[in-house]
Amino acid sequence: MKQQLPVKKNDQLQVTIEDLTHEGAGVAKVDGYTLFVPKALPGETVDIKVVKTNKGYGFARLLEIKEASEHRAEPPCPIYHQCGGCQIQHLSYEAQLISKQKQVKDVLERIGGLKEVTLHPTLGMENPWRYRNKAQVPVGEEGGLVIAGFYQERSHRIIDMDECLIQHEENDQIIRVVKKIANKHGIRGYDEEKHRGTLRHVVARKGKVTNEVMVVLVTRGQELSNKKAIIDEIVAEVPNVKSIVQNINTKRTNVIFGDETIVLWGDEYIHDYIGDIKFAISARSFYQVNPEQTKVLYDQALKYADLTGEETVIDAYCGIGTISLFLAQRAKHVYGVEIVPDAIADAKRNAELNGFTNVDFAVGEAEKVMPWWYAQGVRADVVVVDPPRKGCDEELLETILSMKPKRVVYVSCNPATLARDLKILEAGGYETKEVQPVDMFPHSTHVECVARLELV
Ligand code: SAH
Repeated sequence: MKQQLPVKKNDQLQVTIEDLTHEGAGVAKVDGYTLFVPKALPGETVDIKVVKTNKGYGFARLLEIKEASEHRAEPPCPIYHQCGGCQIQHLSYEAQLISKQKQVKDVLERIGGLKEVTLHPTLGMENPWRYRNKAQVPVGEEGGLVIAGFYQERSHRIIDMDECLIQHEENDQIIRVVKKIANKHGIRGYDEEKHRGTLRHVVARKGKVTNEVMVVLVTRGQELSNKKAIIDEIVAEVPNVKSIVQNINTKRTNVIFGDETIVLWGDEYIHDYIGDIKFAISARSFYQVNPEQTKVLYDQALKYADLTGEETVIDAYCGIGTISLFLAQRAKHVYGVEIVPDAIADAKRNAELNGFTNVDFAVGEAEKVMPWWYAQGVRADVVVVDPPRKGCDEELLETILSMKPKRVVYVSCNPATLARDLKILEAGGYETKEVQPVDMFPHSTHVECVARLELV
């Protein structure tokens, strides 16, 4: 017999919001049945309309706020509701930070079984706007004109955009300039459906400390008409431009970059600093998009690593070696491992650029390279991990348990997998001493954490 749900599609009712999901939706309960209400906040009384019901939970649309949360904020971005890039601009920044800490607390308890851990308040930004150092916007056409902006939520329709409030102003300016120049020279915007047109994406990158700017034009083929005039005009109109490159992506794909990159003008790289360490950034290099908070995160990781200069350290999932080089300032030797060969090439270049001789980088799966190092006799005093969202591979955690470093520093972009992995490390003899959430992406629901574990 089909179980009767307390609500059905199109029902209109009034509810009180009890919680916020990690995706930023309000949670209401109707006779024990969970309804997710996007854009509603905890503590609010709201009128809703049910739009979908599944067996265990349903979704509703916010019709009217009857009693607003004291933490509700007016989103300053005019395209907030269309874009979907930010999820919680309607929540005051202070409340965002508290909500991120709660999100971490909940999963540490629920998934990790960790009730006693010291969990610090989220470290946020003094000015949580205009923080991104990289813009990558899709280009299309509307009414015969080149447009560039964002994909409308859950679609591939491009909405033209002049500015994004979490983007550095200069990056917005670059996109506007390139749009104007493209229109002036009759460059066609890309048509995804027909796989026609020239300009697919514009990418703008800025070194926040050095002020160096890179402009990347991603095109469907080699051809770019009026190349010389376009380059001259970008150089004339974009202050501090150090590099203009063309990346060619011939495929029918959502992936932004193709395999071939041509320097059109200037250098192949721009540079930036995080703390005292200098990084070379190419068109396709991974580099943290919020360098200010990245420094906060890495300083915390370094503090938790508690190095004296005598330690051997392993940095697993090291990317372009950002954390490795931070650690190398204070360690005897650092081993970094990362699966993407280009990232390791960048890591080696960055080590050289800064004159580090106490680091070794290896390409491979961390869960395979760590046991290999162990077999070679490498014994780390401190292991730092910074895995992707899916967390650490179990084999890697087991290698840590065999190697028995006195300390593990876990940098995580997903509290749920952090909690799962902490539980495994705790069962193997480690104790989680403290967890520090850091807000790398204000107005989104993402939260980064650094955890300090000691061998007991
Ligand atoms: N620590 C770096 C990057 C962290 S992002 C920084 O702070 O910038 C996670 C990294 O793990 C990515 O660079 C990804 O390519 C890499 N990665 C994913 N799976 C991996 C695996 N199995 N072994 C090693 N590296 C992996």
